[in-house]
Amino acid sequence: MIDKKTVFKFCPICRASLEVKNIDEAARLVCASCGWINYRNPVPVAVAAALNARREVLIIKRAFEPAAGRWSLPGGFVEYNEHPADTCIRELQEETGIKGEIIRLLGIYNFSSRIHGSLLVVSYEVRALTEELKLNKEISDAKFAEYKDVPYITFASHRKILKDIFENNKKIRNAGI
Ligand SMILES: [Zn+2]
Repeated sequence: MIDKKTVFKFCPICRASLEVKNIDEAARLVCASCGWINYRNPVPVAVAAALNARREVLIIKRAFEPAAGRWSLPGGFVEYNEHPADTCIRELQEETGIKGEIIRLLGIYNFSSRIHGSLLVVSYEVRALTEELKLNKEISDAKFAEYKDVPYITFASHRKILKDIFENNKKIRNAGI
């Protein structure tokens, strides 16, 4: 089945009309004229679970949709040719002014966003090297919080990240990730 939300109406290469064909065991839009196939993939996002020396985690309140006014973890879209670990550190600093270093890959999560569609969330445990907050316009508030004091986190994938880092930590390490 093809999700109607983000589909092309015409071929973006030659502007001919598209038809649905079964290719590699999925229904995909295919150009009848030039053969272009609309392969669809999740959009990669990098998310930081940034901890300070007291193992408090940095959370941000989002200024814009999706989920304006709600708490989440810092992060953003991976740029073309950018390693997600670099995205993670870059977004952390852009959004909050916090400098960080990667401790480890925490996990990879699949998340369906109402606005952005299918997301591939790559999450890292990050050591916060600074604590002075300098928020950009995307963020209306930010703070380091003890896990027990973290308010409701809006994205299911971010809630899972926090659970994995604070509750399932041992299990993940044992799995060798
Ligand atoms: Zn075409």
